[in-house]
Amino acid sequence: MQEQVNSGSARDKEVELALFAKREKIFPREVHGIFAGLRIASVFILLGIFYGLPWISWDGHQSILLDLPARKFYIFGLTFWPQDFLYLTFLLIIAALSLFFFTTLAGRLWCGYACPQTVWTETFLWIERLVEGSRSQQMRLDREKMSFRKFRIKASKHGLWIIFALFTGFTFVSYFTPAKTLVEAVMQLQLSPWETFWLLFYAFATYGNAGWMREQVCMYMCPYARFQSAMFDDDTLIVSYDAQRGDPKGARSPSIDHKEKGLGDCINCTLCVQVCPTGIDIRDGLQYQCISCSACIDACDDVMEKMQYPKGLIRYTTQNTLAGESSHLLRPRVLIYGGLLLTLLLVFSYSIWNRVPLGLDVIRDRNQLYRETQGLIENVYTLKILNMDTKAHSYSLTVKGIDNLKISTPHENLLVEAGEVKDVAVRVQVDEMNLTGRSNDIFFSIQASDAEKLSAIERARFLGPLP
Ligand code: SF4
Ligand code: SF4
Repeated sequence: MQEQVNSGSARDKEVELALFAKREKIFPREVHGIFAGLRIASVFILLGIFYGLPWISWDGHQSILLDLPARKFYIFGLTFWPQDFLYLTFLLIIAALSLFFFTTLAGRLWCGYACPQTVWTETFLWIERLVEGSRSQQMRLDREKMSFRKFRIKASKHGLWIIFALFTGFTFVSYFTPAKTLVEAVMQLQLSPWETFWLLFYAFATYGNAGWMREQVCMYMCPYARFQSAMFDDDTLIVSYDAQRGDPKGARSPSIDHKEKGLGDCINCTLCVQVCPTGIDIRDGLQYQCISCSACIDACDDVMEKMQYPKGLIRYTTQNTLAGESSHLLRPRVLIYGGLLLTLLLVFSYSIWNRVPLGLDVIRDRNQLYRETQGLIENVYTLKILNMDTKAHSYSLTVKGIDNLKISTPHENLLVEAGEVKDVAVRVQVDEMNLTGRSNDIFFSIQASDAEKLSAIERARFLGPLP
């Protein structure tokens, strides 16, 4: 399989030449069918989520808001802080493992249905078809000399692309500045320089990648296209042309018995090539440019239906099946990736479920090791109580670790507002007789009065004179 994906120096040479060759614009033909339907559903769901989330409120905040200046990240009612960086690490590992797992199982599913490049390119292609018409109309228009009509059509298309790209840039920024605030800022032309920069940058990237570069991003810029073959094996589902059934190719009338004429099922209509967004011919075998979008499957199934041949000349299959051998779904690498993924998902869910949105930090006063007051040894501390919840809470404070510890603080009640970091000065006193050494462990604990789960303990040192 790997040999086929990177089939030696000839293919390398072709890639090398292609890097320097002038790009030939690809006009993918519109296609209908089961997989096209799935792709449309995927585009609607994913773009719906992306464009819709900033407008949904959750527990008094935007459903997802990454408030960088305040260093708070609101995600579906939970407030994360930079201290919660571990969760992001978890998420990235889960995302990477999911990619490995699904690639091993079903090839480039991500590329064909969920990659932002695919999703936005698909949308830009719809706009292009809406304005310029079908594939043949687009090709004709491109060959035409510039005229008022051509200028008007092209300008309309680019105008719509730019509006859509700007809306995309706006949506991207609204994950960092609340969408409603951002609307007001745009209306009053009061966007900050950073908001302006990111809005235009994201809009430009969308317009450039989905409108102009399209398949070039997948072929030359995306690293996944290069290393995904390492995750493939002969049991991975791939989009493949059944050469045994299809060859020899050739045009024919639907009424003749093509087998008698020595022909295979492929009528050489090239529709599979015309619908391909990367412009390849799947009949040449598996190629790294194939993003598994399945457009060629839909196109060929349609042809097979019209010819009254069985569908599936191009289909999802495995190398083993094509070679007449049995295919295995559960293989060691699938089980390992799947097992790791499941374990991480369980650990992640458990830790999110049991997450305590409360932080406690204890800082000892370093100016003085200790002091004696009214016959007692005293140490002074500053407690930093971080309420990471979305509600204010009152906390009770206790300290343990040495017998008969006394605690005093100027704060009568430890009320900490949502998202507040409260500094609390605390004096801890104890009779010298109760100390077991010069340095003693003590434990500060805080407990919210209205939620049993909200508690935190932090260790500190209590220093006294040499015994
Ligand atoms: S669409 Fe099917 S029949 Fe037509 S050229 Fe491609 S493989 Fe052959
Ligand atoms: S070969 Fe088929 S599945 Fe691969 S990118 Fe082209 S149309 Fe999509």
